[in-house]
Amino acid sequence: MSIFSDPAFDGHELVAFHEHAASGLRAIVAVHNASLGPAVGGCRMYAYDSDAAALNDVLRLSRGMTYKSALAGIPLGGGKSVIIGDPKKLKNRELLLAFGEFIDSLNGRYVTAEDSGTTVADMKVIGERTAHVSGVTSQQRFGGDPSPYTAYGVYCGIRAALRFQRGTDDLKGLRIAIQGVGAVGRHLAERLLRQGADVIVADVCRDNLSRAEKLGARIVPVEDILSVRCDVLAPCAMGAVINPQTVTTLRTDIVAGAANNQLATPLQSEQLLQRGILYAPDFVINAGGIIDVYYQQQGGSSEQSEKHVERIADTLTEIFNKAEGERQSTHAIAEAMAESIFRGEKGFGVKASA
Ligand code: NAD
Repeated sequence: MSIFSDPAFDGHELVAFHEHAASGLRAIVAVHNASLGPAVGGCRMYAYDSDAAALNDVLRLSRGMTYKSALAGIPLGGGKSVIIGDPKKLKNRELLLAFGEFIDSLNGRYVTAEDSGTTVADMKVIGERTAHVSGVTSQQRFGGDPSPYTAYGVYCGIRAALRFQRGTDDLKGLRIAIQGVGAVGRHLAERLLRQGADVIVADVCRDNLSRAEKLGARIVPVEDILSVRCDVLAPCAMGAVINPQTVTTLRTDIVAGAANNQLATPLQSEQLLQRGILYAPDFVINAGGIIDVYYQQQGGSSEQSEKHVERIADTLTEIFNKAEGERQSTHAIAEAMAESIFRGEKGFGVKASA
């Protein structure tokens, strides 16, 4: 097994493994780059097919956090953690406390937060063993859950993409397809419906679907959502949904959603460009959550979070313009911009809201 030469490793500063047999905890923490600040990123709990799949996931997600925080203009590094196992079956208080002790042993090099499979309540338990936990501030409007801010960032990003492509961001009557109406997708659907958009959704979870339906969304089968004719496709479920198979069947003008690692490989960004589909890079448009986590850590207000999240639209517009000017994919341009920030070639331009 070759770790250091694996493309997913990408020069990670730290990868730590921990097993706590008594509670069944098996966890990995990855810190990709902490040059802008302490590495902050969520803890995902998932029933991975193999340990190798868990390692690959945490490395890709951790790297993504470095790029996300750099372009969001917040002084945080990139890190992530995974707990291996089905949260519905394996998660218990003892396991979460053991995870807290693991995080604490890293002395602040990594700060955890909620992610798929973990909740604000879980973070409170983890916080009994370590101070290096975020997204639990009860004074915030959403009790520490950053997903409404992620959804707001995606909403602002969709409007920026429409302005760039069509010269108007009027959502009335536009068809927007959302794959996955969980925490982020539901909030996004709600905002879009309020502006008169025709929102089409698909989800594997019946409860989440009926909640979206009650808001006014229309439902299509899971297997149809990626090829439905629409103005904007917003992937808000899982990664690698834009892959060699799906990229040729998309019938949308814009891809702009919350899911991490939407592209199976960077080649899909070129294919989207060739097909004339405008792609809002995932690590740019979905930064609302980490922006809010940062303000929670600083004791900032929800207004400060919102104001900062709105800047995602400006960053995307800069990326779209640059990509068009240089005839490159938006993904390639966004990665290059982020690298120049966290490698110190460019000043840390966008300052956090006071
Ligand atoms: P979530 O688990 O609350 O929601 C995901 C939804 O997708 C669920 O309703 C699930 O049933 C559905 N789903 C799963 N597989 C599906 C499939 N094959 N087809 C259709 N639907 C499917 O997660 P979330 O917090 O809403 O996050 C959504 C995505 O955005 C994830 O990829 C996450 O990593 C990313 N993201 C979330 C945040 C945040 O603040 N929560 C921040 C940045 C990125």
